Amino acid sequence: MSQDFTGLVAIVTGGASGIGAAIAKHLQDGGARVAVFDLQPEAATHADLAVAVDVADDTSVRAGVDRVAAEFGGIDILVNNAGIGAQGNVEANSDDEWHRVLDINVVGMARVSRAALPHLRDSPAAAIVNTSSIAATAGLPERALYSASKGAVAALTRAMAADHLREGIRVNAVDPGTADTPWIGRLLDSAPDPAAERAALEARQPHGRLVSADEVAAAVAYLASPAAGSTTGVALAVDGGMRELRLRPQ
Ligand code: NAD
Repeated sequence: MSQDFTGLVAIVTGGASGIGAAIAKHLQDGGARVAVFDLQPEAATHADLAVAVDVADDTSVRAGVDRVAAEFGGIDILVNNAGIGAQGNVEANSDDEWHRVLDINVVGMARVSRAALPHLRDSPAAAIVNTSSIAATAGLPERALYSASKGAVAALTRAMAADHLREGIRVNAVDPGTADTPWIGRLLDSAPDPAAERAALEARQPHGRLVSADEVAAAVAYLASPAAGSTTGVALAVDGGMRELRLRPQ
């Protein structure tokens, strides 16, 4: 069952693929008009408006937000979902890689929020949802830079929730576990035996399968909806229980 977003306007960054595309569809199913900001807007055929925006570029972010506000008459919901991965321990990545990943995964969310907040303040149903990750808190091996970026998203979410509470703007996060998206598909395809790698990855999940993009999108839709009107500053895990089980011997 979808939430009711009738008459509301949403921006979903990274909404051309995977989790972002599923979020866009859930919001649309509830009646929202959805603008997708993505490096590949041509892939966002599901969007009501697809805009070429690089969240690492302030000029393109501001132009995108201005365009949505002009074409749709306001902005009610912002889903900061665009993000990229990084592999390895703390020795694995150069300064340039640290700056690039943090610029997209963390500063990108602040940048789009900064541009959208003046419009969100005018909405009676304003909500921001940030796509974080279980990596924010779980201490995943070989994901030092990625985990640092998502830990910063978790802190940013709580700080923004406090800052904008009195303005009626709720700010929450979702923490997906390993989700079945083109991103994970690309990682599996780079393995010598993708099918065996997928089976091993599924076996490592507490519920024996990957999280679906739809499950993450349903959580985002709930947090973005008026039904969650008393919920702000939380991170909702959609991870099959991975966070609870990670330190126990399997
Ligand atoms: P995906 O690669 O399938 O989709 C990401 C989308 O973001 C793509 O359409 C891409 O073009 C867009 N994007 C990338 N950089 C961008 C930029 N600079 N500006 C605008 N758009 C940009 O990935 P996904 O698996 O759907 O992941 C989406 C989000 O979910 C990310 O923030 C990721 O960290 C998070 N996440 C994913 C998983 C997972 O297992 N897939 C788990 C936890 C969290």
